[in-house]
Amino acid sequence: MPSTFLAIGECMVEMAPTGEGTFKMGFAGDTLNTAWYVRKALGQDWAVAYYTGVGMDQVSRQMTDFLNEAGIETGYIRELQDRTVGLYMIQLKDGERSFAYWRSQSAARCLADDPAVLSAAMDNAGLIYFSGITLAILSPEGRQAFFQALKSARQKGAKAAFDPNLRPRLWEDAETMRSCVTEAAGLCDFVMPSFEDEEAYFGDATPSISADRYLAAGAEMVVVKNGPQEVIVATASDRHAFSPAPVSNVVDTTAAGDSFNAGFLAEYLVTMSVTASVAAGARLAGTVIQHRGALVDCLEPA
Ligand code: AMP
Repeated sequence: MPSTFLAIGECMVEMAPTGEGTFKMGFAGDTLNTAWYVRKALGQDWAVAYYTGVGMDQVSRQMTDFLNEAGIETGYIRELQDRTVGLYMIQLKDGERSFAYWRSQSAARCLADDPAVLSAAMDNAGLIYFSGITLAILSPEGRQAFFQALKSARQKGAKAAFDPNLRPRLWEDAETMRSCVTEAAGLCDFVMPSFEDEEAYFGDATPSISADRYLAAGAEMVVVKNGPQEVIVATASDRHAFSPAPVSNVVDTTAAGDSFNAGFLAEYLVTMSVTASVAAGARLAGTVIQHRGALVDCLEPA
């Protein structure tokens, strides 16, 4: 049986403008973006699965069809009778994008409501990937159930990777965000923050300070991204800085962090080389940001 990379979070319907009053429907979300790129970067000896909640309506079915067509397994996804998937709409005004969200009642918010189902999905995974957004959308009880399932899966041998992806507007308050994110980091093998967020919401003065903070919380390895600047990779005993290759034609930085994480983890799972993994993450992110949109078909399947 192949090992499984399991991403957990919220995939949303995306309505992207195509002209005056017309929109194209797609699907996106931070953890989904990473799963989508991991599927392209990892060989077939790895399965890639997504765990979330969806409804039983047509648009939910279209979402799971989309995941399946991308080669992402959906067998554990919770289907809920009385909910549907979240949606966001991109609007353009004078070339600037703004986002409107309808996600407060989305089915994904219930993804941890049945701990047995959550554990069944996690216990089967070789690597569990989630983000601060995954946690933000859960109830306080859901977060505790999530942490319990994660601890138990890790005791059975799963690794865990986490991008704090700090979005205070999704949380009840900033202090809860900081304490949950810190607790989550302490349960993970890989913590992969973007310094811009850490500086803004934890007040870190440098990427090394972010790395120290997550190591002190219990993370095994911290990978701090910082846009075009150095990536810091730190463990308790080691610390290195890597410069991503410069990208001159940056068009859209949507999913830069998500795709970096995918490139890094897919490489690390195979080679366990930090140098090769940072290079793979930066190469993928560097390509993605030269195109519009979150999901850019820029990788040949491995
Ligand atoms: P971020 O989450 O914005 O810190 O970016 C994630 C990764 O995307 C970085 O570690 C880089 O590898 C890549 N990246 C983002 N912005 C740029 C840029 N302007 N030039 C080159 N690489 C970038």
